[in-house]
Amino acid sequence: MDDLHALIIGAGIGGLTAALALQRAGFKVSVYEQVAELGEVGAGVTITPNACHALDYLLGEALVESICHVPASGAIKHFETGATLIDTQRGDLPKKQYGAHYCQVHRADLHAALADAVRRNDPDAVHVDSCFTGLHETGSSITAEFASGRSATGDVLVGCDGIRSAVRQVLWGADKPQFTGYIAWRGLVPTAGLDPAYLVPDSAAFAGRGRTFTRYKVRQGTLYNFAAFARRVQWEAESWSERADIAELIEEFHDFAPEVQAILRAVPPEQCFKWGLFDRPPVERWTKGRATLLGDAGHPMTPFLAQGAAMAIEDGLILARAVSAAADWREALTRYENARRERGTFVMLESHVNAKRIYSRDPDSLDRSSHKSAEALGLYAYNPLTVPV
Ligand SMILES: Cc1cc2nc3c(=O)[nH]c(=O)nc-3n(C[C@H](O)[C@H](O)[C@H](O)COP(=O)(O)OP(=O)(O)OC[C@H]3O[C@@H](n4cnc5c(N)ncnc54)[C@H](O)[C@@H]3O)c2cc1C
Repeated sequence: MDDLHALIIGAGIGGLTAALALQRAGFKVSVYEQVAELGEVGAGVTITPNACHALDYLLGEALVESICHVPASGAIKHFETGATLIDTQRGDLPKKQYGAHYCQVHRADLHAALADAVRRNDPDAVHVDSCFTGLHETGSSITAEFASGRSATGDVLVGCDGIRSAVRQVLWGADKPQFTGYIAWRGLVPTAGLDPAYLVPDSAAFAGRGRTFTRYKVRQGTLYNFAAFARRVQWEAESWSERADIAELIEEFHDFAPEVQAILRAVPPEQCFKWGLFDRPPVERWTKGRATLLGDAGHPMTPFLAQGAAMAIEDGLILARAVSAAADWREALTRYENARRERGTFVMLESHVNAKRIYSRDPDSLDRSSHKSAEALGLYAYNPLTVPV
């Protein structure tokens, strides 16, 4: 097992975390990414303590603290009046309670930190312009095929290629992602020009009828990341995301509090995108032969518990621990799937339940008893460094 070579398909947050964790455990990895230049969308991501444990271990606490913003507090507010309905202390509290921060980061900063660390370990580890199209196994290896006609051979293959995973399709057939009935706008707004009253608390979610708006700080508080959600009967665009028309966004949230209006008016037009939110039914198994799934490829989830990236990060660390603990590749993939599939599927299904809860409730009567967070589900108490594998 010491000379195991893992082929990782997809260099998103999940693929790069898996690659780094495997390198850290002493294994060789080759990462294959379809795009020509590595990168992430211009948006933020919340990293909850369960995932932060893994990032602290892989990147070092100092680097994580330098790229992440730790919010002092957060609130759920009434969409129209802006009145605080539920407030939550953050700051050092999650670190004291769970051993790692609750923080928020620009996706590009996290992605770059992971990619740099992988390349520092092995300058030849990441291959761009490598669109996976198929695989074949022999008794002693697995080979990935790419659209370019090239191929690569290793001992195991990990499909980290997101919700539209080609690896999942090759392994388990072509079930199609379904539109969930929700769309999201995301963007980044400089905080400098905003009324200082709108800069507290550090993060806020405005609960409306059929619509929600969240904002939190990234890049040392110089930018607000916002995500605005609404319902739609269908998603008509060909692609999954498209440049958004700010006027449509402002119109959709016209009855929200002045703070929301001010943030939306400050959105640089080139910084605003609109997504259709899709999902897929849970897949019964992740692993077939020498290939398995990780991140959104195995458990694509709606963002209503803010746990998709967190689950991909947890997966990556557990995969490396499973490989380290196993006597052979078969045991490694079995241990990995056994440790992860139930939790990934649970969080994926709970994200749907939470969406229904969020969009059916009346903001006028919202309080702690009608609100369910990832923390209330106990998800933050998981530590991928120490759970049994
Ligand atoms: C609006 C919104 C807000 C969200 N907020 C949060 C949050 O706050 N916290 C959180 O934890 N999660 C959040 N998520 C979820 C999170 O973004 C995803 O779960 C996470 O990015 C999944 O990472 P991944 O690496 O599995 O997949 P992806 O990020 O999709 O990466 C897949 C990679 O594989 C590559 N690829 C695809 N096909 C191929 C192929 N055939 N060959 C080679 N490469 C390929 C892609 O180019 C991409 O680089 C949010 C999602 C949305 C939509």
